Amino acid sequence: MNSVTNLTEADAANELMRLAKAIAHHDRLYHAEDAPEISDPEYDALVRRNAELEAAFPHLVREDSPSRKVGHTASSSPLSKVTHEVRMMSLDNAFNAEEVEEWIARVRRFLSLSESDPVAFTAEDKIDGLSCSLRYENGTLVRAATRGDGQVGEDVTANVAHISDIPQQLPEGAPEVFEIRGEVYMGRADFAALNARQEEEGGKLFANPRNAAAGSLRQKDASVTAQRPLKFWAHGWGAASEVPGETQEQVVRTLESWGVPVSPLFARFESAAEIVAHYDKIAAQRPDLPYEIDGVVYKVDRLDFQLRLGFVAKAPRWALAHKFPAERAETTLESIDIQVGRTGKLTPVGRLAPVLVGGVTVTNVTLHNRDEIARLGVRPGDRVVVQRAGDVIPQLVDNLTREVEREPFVFPERCPECDSEAVAEEGEVDVRCTGGLICPAQRTERLKHFVSRGALDIDGLGEKTIDQFFALGWLESPADIFRLKDRREAILALDGWKERSVDNLLASVEARREPDAARLLFGLGIRHVGAVTARDLMKHFHELPALREAAEQARAGDEDAAAALTSIDGIGSAVVEALGDFFHEDHNTAVWEDLLTQVSPPRYVVETKESPVSGKTVVFTGKLETMSRDEAKAQAERLGAKASGSVSAKTDLLVAGPGAGSKLKKAAELGIEVIDEAGWAEIVKGAG
Ligand code: ZN
Repeated sequence: MNSVTNLTEADAANELMRLAKAIAHHDRLYHAEDAPEISDPEYDALVRRNAELEAAFPHLVREDSPSRKVGHTASSSPLSKVTHEVRMMSLDNAFNAEEVEEWIARVRRFLSLSESDPVAFTAEDKIDGLSCSLRYENGTLVRAATRGDGQVGEDVTANVAHISDIPQQLPEGAPEVFEIRGEVYMGRADFAALNARQEEEGGKLFANPRNAAAGSLRQKDASVTAQRPLKFWAHGWGAASEVPGETQEQVVRTLESWGVPVSPLFARFESAAEIVAHYDKIAAQRPDLPYEIDGVVYKVDRLDFQLRLGFVAKAPRWALAHKFPAERAETTLESIDIQVGRTGKLTPVGRLAPVLVGGVTVTNVTLHNRDEIARLGVRPGDRVVVQRAGDVIPQLVDNLTREVEREPFVFPERCPECDSEAVAEEGEVDVRCTGGLICPAQRTERLKHFVSRGALDIDGLGEKTIDQFFALGWLESPADIFRLKDRREAILALDGWKERSVDNLLASVEARREPDAARLLFGLGIRHVGAVTARDLMKHFHELPALREAAEQARAGDEDAAAALTSIDGIGSAVVEALGDFFHEDHNTAVWEDLLTQVSPPRYVVETKESPVSGKTVVFTGKLETMSRDEAKAQAERLGAKASGSVSAKTDLLVAGPGAGSKLKKAAELGIEVIDEAGWAEIVKGAG
């Protein structure tokens, strides 16, 4: 794998796409099909790589990113399953003191306690680890299991044998059956040392102590766990033949007396004011604690009260997790770089003086767009506040030197990659480079689009070939494709090319010297000009220069030209603006003119021939074997028919290929005529 810093943006975007698919695939195999294909460490390596890429390219984080999904650390695992006798609960959360007070009031109401009746609570810091249940029978540890989904976890008995905090044997007098519940975790210093060692040995790095603890515990080979500095503390219990105490505090102290670690900050209080004060104290100590915590957990102390309160859904009514706000740190915004994405979008990325936030060093933060920069009023040199919550991508949340007099950051009006004009469309926050055809950030993607099936459809010029030729400097712009014939010998000299394959490639290029004008227009990749729009435009203008002239006039403020364009069916102001911007850019017109020295599209005429389908509505469904769906629709238009995407009472004819499903069924119900692809070919031929 390439080091993240050596990747181009296009490579990173592609890799993130592949990782999202791969991780989702392995999640499904593990969870739904219980048939993992890869090992736990292999899975974790994928997740880790994804996190590294997202940290380096924060603006490329995908909607379907594995880092946005809950529970992605429940990786594929060869460990056997354990069903918990007593379900492992989750906790309800509170995010401020008011919510804590409301919870206490609810508890009192539920128990019908009067104002004067005392009710005590325990409070302890909530460690960020992996929940574990330890089952002791007759004082001996017989099974350790992870939380899993609460009902079914994984057997880690062999692994916890290597955690010295966990006794294999409870002292005399322990209940016959007793399940201790708590967290397996890794301290901050141990985490840092482990990652340093991993780096030295070329092993994988962990994103945070919790991931390190999970990855270390959930190992098929327990000797790996043995080398990891894992710790444990208890905070509760599950199945028990007898509970050693009448309050939460008594049981916790009993566990402690058995030699089981518990939170050193565990305490008991009798009022809301006291527990909130304890929370504030722990929050203040948090940065200096040797382990990571994410809140404080409160529990009703009396066990008879706990029993009466019971559970709602998956959480007990008698417990609450009071979460800390996301971790924040202050640092200097050193510079604002503009990255240009594959689609031409300009994304500002803040470069920070390295700062530790929630145990992770943060050096980059996405600033999203021009509006976000304006909202924060950030300029290079400002002191800023960076926030990170859990595994979430760091965010810049505040600017501390907003008031200091300094020039505001000026968002570039030209693309930093190619110097083309960069514009935001009306109502859009994203600024895009208009130099699609010459912009290095976009160029290979544009070339790939240009030769794709819906556009010029040049066989033999695949993505790899384009990347290779582009790297050799042979494909600066679409026109260069038509100059490849002058490089026949050079191509032959490349690995993997034979006379025949080179000749085939050059022949398919030559076959496009007189391309369909609408396809050529679509192939230019002008924003908002898709295949259908390109056809609508060409049906009206017939010749490309006429289209260009109208677009330029419209941009220059000629209202008649603009009206003529928007009066075309299917053409709106966004298309007109995009065309105007495109032709306004000298780079684009140079590429355009160069291209037209190489190709001569014939006048575009859609002859609506008299045919059996003239004036009818045709729908295509299923797989078409001799042509693309777009081509079929274009044929229908040429025959004077209207191609529609869905079957309705207005449909006259359904052309159904193999695999046709609901549309075919509906057409049958409506009594619509159905033919196959061969039947369609007959109609096209007949209208010849
Ligand atoms: Zn550019």
